Amino acid sequence: MLAQLIALPVAAYITRNHHRLIEGAAALPTAQKRRLAPYFPEAILNTVRVHQRDPLPIPHPPFTSLVRKLGLSYPDLSLTAAITFGDLIVTREPMSISLLFHELVHVVQYRQLGISAFARHYVQGLLTHRAYEKIPLEAHAFHLEARFEFDRQPFNVEAEVTRLLNP
Ligand SMILES: [Zn+2]
Repeated sequence: MLAQLIALPVAAYITRNHHRLIEGAAALPTAQKRRLAPYFPEAILNTVRVHQRDPLPIPHPPFTSLVRKLGLSYPDLSLTAAITFGDLIVTREPMSISLLFHELVHVVQYRQLGISAFARHYVQGLLTHRAYEKIPLEAHAFHLEARFEFDRQPFNVEAEVTRLLNP
């Protein structure tokens, strides 16, 4: 119930920041697209946009005061390297290929869930597991990011995300 209530402003926050920052955001450089082509469909690599600015040009997420009140573990915006709103990645500085990979997993999650369900999963995950890195949508992204780093065998991220979201 609480998750449902908070998911609404979170979905609005995602949509608002996407609209505000998508204009003028850059496409991925060709070298990064080529590196990630074995993992992500061309359509995603071609449509995703990156907005880079330090500090991150966004307000605190709507659950910030709740996080404090409930004693949940969630990094402050000032400690966040990058954040993804749909097909838009907002980053503080040029992303390492691993960080970009992680954010692209979120892009795939958004495509499969839609913004409303993504927000609901995210908030529900935070309230249930009480820590940022244990939110399933984050845990999945960290898991696939680690697999990208340590396993040389390319894999299909879309298929993995489908599998993880429908256990
Ligand atoms: Zn993440």
